[in-house]
Amino acid sequence: VFIVFEGGEGAGKTTQSRLAAIWLRDHGYEVVTTREPGATKTGMRLRALLLDRETTGLSSRAETLLYAADRADHVANVIRPALDRGAIVVSDRYVDSTLAYQGFGREQPVEEIAAVNAWGTGGLVPDLTVLLELPPEKGLNRLSSPADRIESEPREFHERVLSGFRALADAEPDRYLVVDASRPEAEIRREIQDRIREILPD
Ligand code: C5P
Ligand code: MG
Repeated sequence: VFIVFEGGEGAGKTTQSRLAAIWLRDHGYEVVTTREPGATKTGMRLRALLLDRETTGLSSRAETLLYAADRADHVANVIRPALDRGAIVVSDRYVDSTLAYQGFGREQPVEEIAAVNAWGTGGLVPDLTVLLELPPEKGLNRLSSPADRIESEPREFHERVLSGFRALADAEPDRYLVVDASRPEAEIRREIQDRIREILPD
């Protein structure tokens, strides 16, 4: 079972993916928690290149391909092996982040980016994607160390990212759980647990 948490900055992806993992482990499942970009040795190097994007003048296409390379390595070295031995994988971000940020956000062709990523991941699609929805100003305010971020983009960029996520979720309602992330943490946690329960093996 492959579960992904998506959403904009400060929406609570890291918190909620950890809470879900703890809950699943309490129920006896082997759980692998992971994140993008930077979950593998090569991924850490790619993450550093992505963080330097502004100083090095990294082009948008190259940025998109580096995210895809990071993800291909992530699938090959972490996600696939874990799924193959029967573990539940919980990832903080996956393909839809790239469609939202590099596609909708940077206004690059979403279909082509999807094709590159489908090839890079060998067509691996999550069983469930949880979208934590939060207005950009709320999310950006929640961040403790904005300096550690890849993005220092204008508000319109983040608006495009959020409406991109929403469009992706609307296109595949069966795979998505869209959650209002401005609600209390415990409420959100329970809503996510209820949905995960439906896709768990017995
Ligand atoms: O997951 P996290 O919020 O830590 O992401 C780190 C940074 O990477 C964020 O600033 C996000 O905007 C950026 N990012 C991106 N494109 C992706 C994934 C993340 O620009 N595909
Ligand atoms: Mg996070």
